[in-house]
Amino acid sequence: MTKEKILRLLPSVDELARWWEEAENDQVVPVGRSVLIPLVRELTQELREKILGDKLSDSSELSKEELLQALGTKIKGLAEYKLDLMINATGVVLHTNLGRAVLSERVAEAVARIAANYSNLELELTSGERGSRYSHVEEYLCKLTGAEGALVVNNNAGAVLLALAALARGKEAIVSRGELVEIGGSFRIPEVMAQSGVALVEVGATNKTYPADYSNAISENTGLLLKVHTSNYRIVGFTRETTREELVQLGKKHQLPVMEDLGSGCLIDLKQWGINGEPTVQQCIAAGVDLITFSGDKLLGGPQAGIIVGAKKIIGRLKKHPLTRALRIDKFTVAALEATLKEYINNSAIENIPTLSMLTASLPELRARAGRVAARLEQELGKNAQIAVEEGSSMVGGGALPTVELPGTVIGIKPYVISCHQAAKELRLGNNKVMVRVQDDKLLVDLRTVFPRQEENLIGKIVEILRGEL
Ligand SMILES: *Cc1c(COP(=O)(O)O)cnc(C)c1O
Repeated sequence: MTKEKILRLLPSVDELARWWEEAENDQVVPVGRSVLIPLVRELTQELREKILGDKLSDSSELSKEELLQALGTKIKGLAEYKLDLMINATGVVLHTNLGRAVLSERVAEAVARIAANYSNLELELTSGERGSRYSHVEEYLCKLTGAEGALVVNNNAGAVLLALAALARGKEAIVSRGELVEIGGSFRIPEVMAQSGVALVEVGATNKTYPADYSNAISENTGLLLKVHTSNYRIVGFTRETTREELVQLGKKHQLPVMEDLGSGCLIDLKQWGINGEPTVQQCIAAGVDLITFSGDKLLGGPQAGIIVGAKKIIGRLKKHPLTRALRIDKFTVAALEATLKEYINNSAIENIPTLSMLTASLPELRARAGRVAARLEQELGKNAQIAVEEGSSMVGGGALPTVELPGTVIGIKPYVISCHQAAKELRLGNNKVMVRVQDDKLLVDLRTVFPRQEENLIGKIVEILRGEL
């Protein structure tokens, strides 16, 4: 048959849409015409291209039955959730691609409760006047960090932008060359500074910056001394960093505000769990830093947010800045942050905030869980894979504590009926999506980031993908 003849077998868009509407499609989600027509058009266009490119295997692909089936697949695909749950078996606790911090069930319930009801988001209950959405979390943040004031915006990048614009627009901010960080997803300190209208004055060298480097650069144009926490890298070897105490002293001497972009924003010293190198927000406030910004969804373990704490006067200036309105948090974030901070207030953060329980999980417990899951996999997979429990380490992730390796246990799986690469891909697709690490031709499953309630689904999915005919 010539291509022209085959093309004539294709029904028109209207005709195919009518077939669909007349057919009984109980098993497929109902869609309206406005959605049906573009899908039909997409399908006929694809088929037309296939015909013209000689890619059509058989003209039976154009039968009414086949066309309706192809359309059904498209409609089902459209109706599926694009944002779906994943089981994180990578051991990377703050995995940015998997949504960073996971909220506890209790915090998630607090969000759902506020989402499905009216609330006093911006209502002063005693006076009946308009209130502030920040009031619900400001007191907690001040009590927990020792700061005089607090404000919360959309994320830490926004917090830095707002703080710079409010404190030093049209002026210069002095930063060490060792702290000009780039955080994944294109957050670069020099570029954010440019956007905020603040001129960057770099001082020192990559590995060494002395207090004198800052004081030599101070002039009547200086508006701010800025310290940036090198969250996702460390400069090691021959180094000299100007401490925040030294910066605070300089700031006092020259009457300049000192701001610190802390990145992760840890409220609990994790030293006793072997996690070193992250200053707490309290330490920075105690050192006299005027303004500190950090993320809500990194080590704090809460919702995405940019938390700003510091001197009352400066926070007051930030609250009045027009950017604050553009960067304001929604009520879900307020609810999630309030419930997360409550865990800190109640001294139950380590047990009840998933990020912190995962980071501090004990090695014997991780070993026992890995042993149990590995035994199940061995039993179900038999000769389809080689399974071994190995010592391994997990990462904090999310651009936090890059040099910290959390000692842990991993299950190493060498599949025999499928390649590692293919297995990792299929694990990510379909129901019960799973993300694993791939290393040395093995799949590594780290239970540190898997909730016990997810174990059965994890085992089921791995068995489904790895089992086959040898
Ligand atoms: C993560 C990080 C940011 C960006 O924070 P987001 O909440 O992702 O916007 C900025 N600065 C530092 C130092 C960071 O570690």
